[in-house]
Amino acid sequence: MQLNTIQEADLQNKTVLCRVDFNVPVKDGVVTDPTRIIAALPTINYILSQKGAKLVIMSHFGRPKGQKDPEFSMKPVAAKFQELLGKKVILASDVIGPEVEKQVKALKSGEVLLLENVRFYPGEEKNDPEFAKQLAAFGDVYVNDAFGTAHRAHASTEGVAHYLPSYAGFLIEKEIKFMAPLLENPEHPFAAIIGGSKVSSKITVLESLAKRCDIIVIGGGMAYTFLKAEGHEIGKSLLEADFIDTAKSFLAAAKSKGVKVVLPVDHICAKEFAETAAPITVDSIDIPSDLIGMDIGPKTVAEIKDAIKDAKSIVWNGPVGVFEFNAFANGTLEVAKAVADCKGTTVVGGGDSVAAVNKFHLASKIDHVSTGGGASLEFLEGKELPGIKALEKK
Ligand code: ADP
Ligand code: MG
Repeated sequence: MQLNTIQEADLQNKTVLCRVDFNVPVKDGVVTDPTRIIAALPTINYILSQKGAKLVIMSHFGRPKGQKDPEFSMKPVAAKFQELLGKKVILASDVIGPEVEKQVKALKSGEVLLLENVRFYPGEEKNDPEFAKQLAAFGDVYVNDAFGTAHRAHASTEGVAHYLPSYAGFLIEKEIKFMAPLLENPEHPFAAIIGGSKVSSKITVLESLAKRCDIIVIGGGMAYTFLKAEGHEIGKSLLEADFIDTAKSFLAAAKSKGVKVVLPVDHICAKEFAETAAPITVDSIDIPSDLIGMDIGPKTVAEIKDAIKDAKSIVWNGPVGVFEFNAFANGTLEVAKAVADCKGTTVVGGGDSVAAVNKFHLASKIDHVSTGGGASLEFLEGKELPGIKALEKK
């Protein structure tokens, strides 16, 4: 996959239309986690370093459902962005329309205009060509750095690319640099650690990874459906009964390909699914009928550590336990540490897994922490991301 990259673009004296992912958490009008804004700064600063360049930035924020809902205004985002950029950010009065046109035209070199929430218009999510054209009219060049939204074919992520020379920003470039080898030519041994709550949301990525992986670790709530498929007792643990057969065929297929599959061999359980529940260690694969599996046990941790220690590449998606509850966070913490300690290339993707890595302050020890939850999952599933496809060299 070869992308047109920002360094190849001639941005001098151009108005650059840049899509970023500023869909950040906001509480009481204040951005509580600016990670996504910070992640876009290298591209933004690079554009602003180009002689005579002007910058028009677009992003979505929350789900205003195609309407101008003041609750989803970019206002708090603009304030945080301005603070982090250390430079004035003009917040546009709207997304499109004559007034915004005027604001764009009035831009001087080095100035930054942030459009209102692109999802204020239904044309955004519908990828309406007319809406995309109106956005495209604001720039001479399009730069997309919104990896987190790249799996959506929306007007600002895909549509505008039909009307302007289009380039990948540094963040998208970095995401692809780390993720593409996992899909195309991973270094072996290649280990995948897949957890999270549901088999249904992870089975496609498991099937895709099984084609390339040497080791697959399955943890989290979804592991119990696999254990059930192998004939074990899982008590009151999470079960997707509809997926028992899928789990069975997955395990059989992985086995026939020679992929080593690691499933939990012991558990930390609880009598109820609650933060205050007392952790109960169950030192067997089978779980007593009155208990819920909440986390992997110490023997499983040791097995995972042993299985991945010599991996040359690792991808981790999905926590292996209910890490939001402190009493059941240890398995995920130990997996995070093992991934951090691995000498191979390590990639973590997925909203909750990334939250876990941040919670444990281990992000700096991972080679690549993806900024895209759904996007990184779809990428690893081998699906084409429309926002990336639009930036490919023809
Ligand atoms: P990611 O966002 O990293 O892709 P998922 O959204 O698939 O991960 O899954 C994360 C959720 O899985 C977390 O909220 C976590 O509490 C839950 N989970 C992990 N282990 C269990 C378990 N044993 N039982 C129920 N839920 C679990
Ligand atoms: Mg999640």
